[in-house]
Amino acid sequence: MIEQKQASSQVILNTEPEPFQFEDGPVLNAESKGVVAGAIGAILHAVGEDSSRDGIIDTPSRVARMYDELLSGYTTDSAKLLNNALFDVEYDEMVVVKDIDFYSMCEHHMLPFYGRASVGYLPEGKVIGLSKIPRLVDMFARRLQVQERMTQQVARFLEELIAPRGVAVVVEATHLCAAMRGVKKHHSRMVTSAMLGAFRENPSTRNEFMMHIGTGADPLM
Ligand SMILES: [Zn+2]
Repeated sequence: MIEQKQASSQVILNTEPEPFQFEDGPVLNAESKGVVAGAIGAILHAVGEDSSRDGIIDTPSRVARMYDELLSGYTTDSAKLLNNALFDVEYDEMVVVKDIDFYSMCEHHMLPFYGRASVGYLPEGKVIGLSKIPRLVDMFARRLQVQERMTQQVARFLEELIAPRGVAVVVEATHLCAAMRGVKKHHSRMVTSAMLGAFRENPSTRNEFMMHIGTGADPLM
């Protein structure tokens, strides 16, 4: 056993002089990716994996590159994202975009939580291109998050952006940190909501939204 341990720590040492080859990404520059890869290598080693075996040898660099994509929300340029997609309109009826699939990572365990977000607002002279709303959700999902904060961030961002009479966001998600660990409630899902302006003040506005997204439960009652 002792021999094996020594052998595998040698493997780690041997890989050290040969740095990973990375390019600068949107979130992590080459150096930061090297740090992430080194840390993942250390985790693999700590849990007793043989970091030189075929399936795992590239895992540290693969994870480092993947984080660049999964956490790209930190550096999303919201001005670019919204480019030419704000419109002045007379329309003042409720706009609802529902069942937006998203994938995020919980900041407590760095495990995924994923599900669907529904967004509604009551325009007051301004609307946003429909295709942009899922991208806004992505911008906040692709970070280390807690679901409650993500829900609020989407709502507040829209509120500041187009100053509507109200914004509603409902997010329903499965958290793998809950599903995979301890209490085995595999199918329990968490629902969070943010109701601003007219959606907070007016139950019938809120109910109209909840009806549109297909749930009868009023989150404020
Ligand atoms: Zn968690």
